[in-house]
Amino acid sequence: MLAPFTAGWQSMDVHPLVIEKSEGCYVYDIDGKKYLDSLAGLWCTALGGSEPRLVAAAARQLNTLPFYHSFWNRTTKPALDLAKELLELFTASKMSKVFFTNSGSEANDSQVKLVWYYNNALGRPNKKKFIAREKSYHGSTLISASLSGLPALHQKFDLPSPFVLHTDCPHFWRYHLPGETEEEFSTRLANNLENLIIKEGPETIAAFIAEPVMGAGGVIPPPATYFEKIQAVVKKYDILFIADEVICAFGRLGTMFGSDKYGIKPDLVTLAKALSSAYVPIGAVLMSPEIYDVIHTQSNKLGIFSHGFTYSGHPVACAVALEALKIYKERNILEQVNSIAPKFQEGVKAFADSPIIGEIRGTGLILGIDFTDNKSPSDTFPPEWGVAAYFGAQCQKNGMLVRVSGDSIMMSPPFIITPQEVDEVLSLASTFQLREERSRNSEGKL
Ligand code: PMP
Repeated sequence: MLAPFTAGWQSMDVHPLVIEKSEGCYVYDIDGKKYLDSLAGLWCTALGGSEPRLVAAAARQLNTLPFYHSFWNRTTKPALDLAKELLELFTASKMSKVFFTNSGSEANDSQVKLVWYYNNALGRPNKKKFIAREKSYHGSTLISASLSGLPALHQKFDLPSPFVLHTDCPHFWRYHLPGETEEEFSTRLANNLENLIIKEGPETIAAFIAEPVMGAGGVIPPPATYFEKIQAVVKKYDILFIADEVICAFGRLGTMFGSDKYGIKPDLVTLAKALSSAYVPIGAVLMSPEIYDVIHTQSNKLGIFSHGFTYSGHPVACAVALEALKIYKERNILEQVNSIAPKFQEGVKAFADSPIIGEIRGTGLILGIDFTDNKSPSDTFPPEWGVAAYFGAQCQKNGMLVRVSGDSIMMSPPFIITPQEVDEVLSLASTFQLREERSRNSEGKL
């Protein structure tokens, strides 16, 4: 198998980590070794790995109608019910229609096509460019990888496509100027965005896409006033705002959506992952009434919306997602996340005085740790030291799975994590601290 996001040489390895079963916040490999899954799979198994109600919902649907499609105005009851549920659940701004996909990447590709279709319907054929942010992650298909702001997704793949522009990553600790406050940093980034729009021509910019908290780019919560200022710029130039809530939605940040937490009023929303607690693949696009109205009223001019997937609105996926949403409500998942999050955040952040940790940041049940020397973002360790990779491997050896990327380690445990399991995370993560004294050279470097 050529594994995703794996080096070619690693795919020759006869001993990959093979996971065989899951139970709550734990997964087990084929040798029976148990791991605390501190990343909830890939930020997604929100209800852990053994929720019987999700399994029963899938079985019920498989026994009734394992498949029917949603093309040509045919559909299924679970798809209709899930669309209704999602429209009621998302209240940060008004949404009027849902388009289903199988993944976050497909949902973001669909966003681009939807926005292009919308601007074509409005007779604005030149308003087609997208602005995303450096270090963002929006998926790995051609378009979603183009939107992503991670060089590894572009290099060797001839990406990004020319219609995508990237603006600043809002990582305050890493990129603020000396003496700059968070608010001033946000103002500078909003000004840079405005300058980019003016330089390109506002009539050519269709949409801006952002994760409320950046995930794969390092877990980067927005600095104070950031989204307020960015939204004002976007609005001024009649540019649509797409909230990519693939990681943030359904409680990860302690609010139902990241948009609720940061006062984002998007025109379009991207969902996936916790939508089904990852038990089955499903993604979704929510669109505002303004966007749908144009598509609706112009359909005689534009013809049918010729976009979709065999499995758009797959009845089993929708049935499982409906059950996941029901569980989130019944178990008051927000209260659960908000009651456990401080123990998790404060517990890990207590390691921040380690001399090799530059910053620990996060909110709710998502967190990122940057390893640097002297607390300075520019004092990075030589890549060949593989500092984060070393700690990631230590965790795995000791029974915890984390995400390693560059000099960062990231965690986003299932929403159902218990206080005892957080204690276990903290005990295993305590290896991130440097316990022994290391000598420093004349420049003070380790
Ligand atoms: N958007 C965001 C914010 C994501 O984190 C991801 C996946 N990590 C995606 C989109 C892509 O989702 P998928 O892998 O389901 O295509």
